[in-house]
Amino acid sequence: MLAGLARDGGLYLPAEWPQFSPAEIAALKGRPYGEVAFRVMQPFVGNAFDETTFRRLIAEAYATFDAPEVAPVKPLGDSGLHLLELFHGPTLAFKDVALQLLGLMLDQTLLRRGQHATIVGATSGDTGSAAIEAVRDRKSIDIFMLYPHGRVSEVQRRQMTTVLAPNVHNLAVSGTFDDCQDLAKACFNDLAFRDRHALTAVNSINFARVMAQIVYYFWAALRLGAPERPVAFAVPTGNFGNVYAGYAAKQMGLPIHHFVIGSNTNDILPRFFETGAMTMSAVVPTYSPSMDIQISSNFERLLFDLYGRDGKALADAMATFRSTGTLEVGGNALGGVRALFDAGRLDDEGTLAAIADCRNRFGETLDPHSAIGYAVAQQHRRDSSVPMVVLATAHPAKFPDAVQKATGERPRLPARLADLLERTERVEGLRNDIAALKELIEDRMGTTPQRARTHS
Ligand SMILES: *Cc1c(COP(=O)(O)O)cnc(C)c1O
Repeated sequence: MLAGLARDGGLYLPAEWPQFSPAEIAALKGRPYGEVAFRVMQPFVGNAFDETTFRRLIAEAYATFDAPEVAPVKPLGDSGLHLLELFHGPTLAFKDVALQLLGLMLDQTLLRRGQHATIVGATSGDTGSAAIEAVRDRKSIDIFMLYPHGRVSEVQRRQMTTVLAPNVHNLAVSGTFDDCQDLAKACFNDLAFRDRHALTAVNSINFARVMAQIVYYFWAALRLGAPERPVAFAVPTGNFGNVYAGYAAKQMGLPIHHFVIGSNTNDILPRFFETGAMTMSAVVPTYSPSMDIQISSNFERLLFDLYGRDGKALADAMATFRSTGTLEVGGNALGGVRALFDAGRLDDEGTLAAIADCRNRFGETLDPHSAIGYAVAQQHRRDSSVPMVVLATAHPAKFPDAVQKATGERPRLPARLADLLERTERVEGLRNDIAALKELIEDRMGTTPQRARTHS
């Protein structure tokens, strides 16, 4: 959890998946979200937190959600499709589900050890605000969030810059998102700098985020008849983080019939499932910007299984991918994943049509990401007697322009964010220069006497 990425560049995974028998799954039926969360995550946490502490962290994390159920499951008429609403957290996107808990787990661990950590991250919009909300006002953590100046929406920017907590440092970089990411990476690659400031990453490759996302697959399946009845899931994804958590739930014993992966025009995943070859191409901007990704960082975790859990073989394949832009998987392994995953893509026009269709047929307004899940769920349904859960990953008001184009109506922000456009902002400009970024971090982290002591 503290390291994020392993020092050799690999991703962490459990040596073996905890197993839940049908009777153990059945015992979770009708239990509140927090209880399901505790049971599902406890085997990963072990004795890192005692039971009382871990239950308290879970309760605190999900008290910030504005739905008492945390993640409501809603049927779409009698179509057999169900929405799993994952956007009731403080920043209106599913990333809050994992990050609210991760922020508390990090803080608790650092306080106990008497340590301080510095998060440095780059964002094209959604991740930044979710990470900032997760750690605001925590004494053990400072967060430096880099975003491309003028290239995030006003709502996205304000969700970051109106957090005035002293440990939050918003940096508007004169450059692109890739420039921001390169700056953040350069900080981590300077090992002396990384160690001096105890740099940590909370991006989607942090296994603690995967762990917290496994919970809602159990939660939704229990609502719809598991363990007696299997359930299918449709997941709009870019980094493969969300759907990988579902794959983990299946490895743990949850009866999942199959997964449908939804992509926008940036379709590296559907192309992989069609051809067995993962090939990079240029990123195209779409109405679903949180999926405008060409390298799905969590996909490496699935590939580990496709390479027979042989870390050396996978590391070689990833090195080839980075140098040639292509990685191929053989027939047997590909057949195995195709049995479990379907993948579909939807362009911007299709996305607007899907938003309008869901609104007309079922009276539900979807954001563009969720609309992609809704469309591919219908394209790839294998068995109409199996309930299909569509993961709704953002509140429609987070992407008001696309939703207005599709429906003619501008979705309104929930009451607690209604004054977002009037709140005071705090942000600093930063030129696209690694020396300037390091100097700024040194300056901020060195000036507080208490922190200087921690690091001396
Ligand atoms: C981040 C995000 C996604 C994609 O999540 P992955 O981790 O790439 O699976 C989808 N929808 C929304 C709204 C997001 O913010």
